[in-house]
Parts: sequence; C-alpha cells; structure tokens
Amino acid sequence: MAPSTEAVYLHDASLRTLTTEIVSHKPVSSLSEDEKSLIKNADLEISAITMRQTILYPQGGGQPSDTGSISLIDKEPTFTVSLVRKTEDGRILHFGKSVGPDALFAEGQSVVQQVDGAKRDYHSRLHTGGHIVGLAMQLLFPEMKKVKANHFPKEACMEYEGLLYNEQKPLIQAKVNELVQQDLPVLISWVEDGSDLNGRGALREGPVRVASIGGLDQNPCGGTHVPTTSLTGPITIRKISRQKGISRVSYEVPLEV
Ligand SMILES: [Zn+2]
Repeated sequence: MAPSTEAVYLHDASLRTLTTEIVSHKPVSSLSEDEKSLIKNADLEISAITMRQTILYPQGGGQPSDTGSISLIDKEPTFTVSLVRKTEDGRILHFGKSVGPDALFAEGQSVVQQVDGAKRDYHSRLHTGGHIVGLAMQLLFPEMKKVKANHFPKEACMEYEGLLYNEQKPLIQAKVNELVQQDLPVLISWVEDGSDLNGRGALREGPVRVASIGGLDQNPCGGTHVPTTSLTGPITIRKISRQKGISRVSYEVPLEV
C-alpha cells in the first residue's frame, strides 16, 4: 500500500517552505477513480504529486486548500499547485500544472515546496475566527449545539440547532470583540482518546488533535490557526439567518491585517 503523507502543517503551521522527496507524479488520467473524484473538471495538463511530507493544507474541516508551488532545489518553481486534497488512506495529492516543459518529477527526487503565504494567513485567520465565534456562542448560549462550521472566504459561518435572531447580533459581536481583545493563545494538543470530547465528532481511533482558545473550549480540529486571538484582526458578525430550525451566524475577518 502507498505510504501516507506526513502532514507537517499539523505540527508547524508557520512553515512556508519545506524540502522533501517526490513519492509519485502522475497525470490525472492515470489516477484511480477515487483519486480522480477529488478534483472536478481537471483538464489534460493537470497532474498530481505526492511527497513524503507536506506543509500545504488539503481542503477539509471547513477550511479551503492551500495553493503554492514545487521546484527543484535552487531552481525556479516548475509546478504550480492549485488544489490539495487528502485521500481516505491519508495520502495528500497536490494537483496542478507544470510550468514550461511538461516533464514529470521522478520518484525520490528532492523538491522544495512553497505555500502561498498571504492566502494561508487569511485562511488561518478565518478559521481561527470560526473558533472565536464558536467560543462566544458557547459562553452565551451553552445549550445550543453546533452542527456545522464553514471557514471559506465570503461563506464563513457557524451553524447551531435552535433559533437566534438579529436582536442577538450585538451581544455575539461584543463577546467576539472581547475574546479578540484578550489576545488569548490558540492552544493545540493531542489526546490519545477522543471519546471524552463528547458529542463533538471525535470518536475515532488514534490520537485526536484538539484546538482550544485559551483553555476555555476543546474542539477536535485538523486546520491551521494563528497563534493568538488578536491576530485574526477584527471579526465582523455579518448576519444571523435561520432555516429549518438551524441558525447560521455568518462572520468575516479582514483580507489583510
Ligand atoms: Zn481549528
């Protein structure tokens, strides 16, 4: 069986460049059906690279994929990564196009990965903003159960069972502002047994990665974060909407801080 990819971003989200080795580089046409299903509308020039390790975040957990590039050591980038996806068996595929001559990297070749830093920073701030909105909701409405989180640009929201109204928006905004101003640390830990994170969907084998805002909450999470809450920049609660008994708290963070 093909080896899983070591997800370096889980342990150090600050890395923007990493030297590693090619495991495979294939045109999309020669991937398995499961692998092909990870990318929509791939044209003939798209190929997929797996490497021993990666610092590029694969789309998942409500957070969008990183983009970036791959190059030979001390050379200009020769491959532009447009989408990163993870397979069921833990391999991380980097989809994109070769720049210039259409040569595939060879197995075992040393390459340098680069993450598009500004985009990653924005995604990390948006994602951390979701945790902050979630903590504000937990403190204000502990009885409301979180059902969904989305940290995509322009769509970012947290969804809860139960009804919230626009009149509650200033209350949520004030609590969010307070948590941002307190500049609380975003703590990452690993727990051996996720089963005591009751009702938060962590009931799976192996160590579970847990994110916590200042030790005040616990959320199983594989995403990238900023180190402290003030680094998200001001969070705006955009609107509160309701559908079929589910309330959605939409939010945004500035594109740049
Ligand atoms: Zn997270």
